[in-house]
Amino acid sequence: MIRLKSAEEVEIIKESAQILGKAHAEVAKAIKPGVKTKDLDKIADEFIRDNGGTPSFKNYHGFPSALCISVNDTVVHGFPSGYEIRESDIISVDCGVKYKGFHSDSAYTYPLEGVGPEVLKLLERTYESLFLGIAQAKAGNRIGDVSFAVQSYVEQFGYGVVRELVGHGVGKDLHEDPEVPNYGKRGKGPKIAAGMVFAIEPMINMGTKKVIQEKDGWTIKTGDHKPSAHFEHMVAIFEDRTEIVTTHEYIEDSYKFKWRSKSQ
Ligand code: MG
Ligand code: MG
Repeated sequence: MIRLKSAEEVEIIKESAQILGKAHAEVAKAIKPGVKTKDLDKIADEFIRDNGGTPSFKNYHGFPSALCISVNDTVVHGFPSGYEIRESDIISVDCGVKYKGFHSDSAYTYPLEGVGPEVLKLLERTYESLFLGIAQAKAGNRIGDVSFAVQSYVEQFGYGVVRELVGHGVGKDLHEDPEVPNYGKRGKGPKIAAGMVFAIEPMINMGTKKVIQEKDGWTIKTGDHKPSAHFEHMVAIFEDRTEIVTTHEYIEDSYKFKWRSKSQ
């Protein structure tokens, strides 16, 4: 069941997303070689709590941390750990905030300096696919239009679109209906209507679309151990427009390595 949000609820979600965007930026400032991923988690956890929120992911079905940190061939749901970030890694940081009863959820993949040009292209194109998906997220379209936009763009480069994990509605629960797959057909799926708030989050692999789950029950890796990128925004649908309610702006102001031009 898709739970529609009132304009007032969308405003609260935007407040939640402001805390989230700034928490991401604090993490962005700290990402450099030698830093342990668990140190990033501490930064986000403290920032969210200091600003009146709670980390949505911590204790979610037993997830241990405020952040999912997924390095290189880890697609999503990696645990923050003692792993020390290295030059030329890519680090995906996914974070959620609960504030005044409403969740926000967004993700960003950071290339470290020294990353190879092919990996950088994977990130650029995954980022681009997110915005192609967002462009289709409007009242009257169908979820399949969003899915198709993401899939058809990235597959032309030979990339694999992860099937097992999808975008989702967001509200009082972190994961609500509808599911928003990154693959699908135009004109199929639930109709997009005013009041819907959902996350679009392409998870795109450089190689095979196949993924494997680690024994920890969470960590998802690519089947061929090639890198994977992940970017996520939430949108709110209005009759006459769509608003991106999450922000990567603070991230892009804060992260030292300016790897993409800020056209979006
Ligand atoms: Mg999400
Ligand atoms: Mg997320």
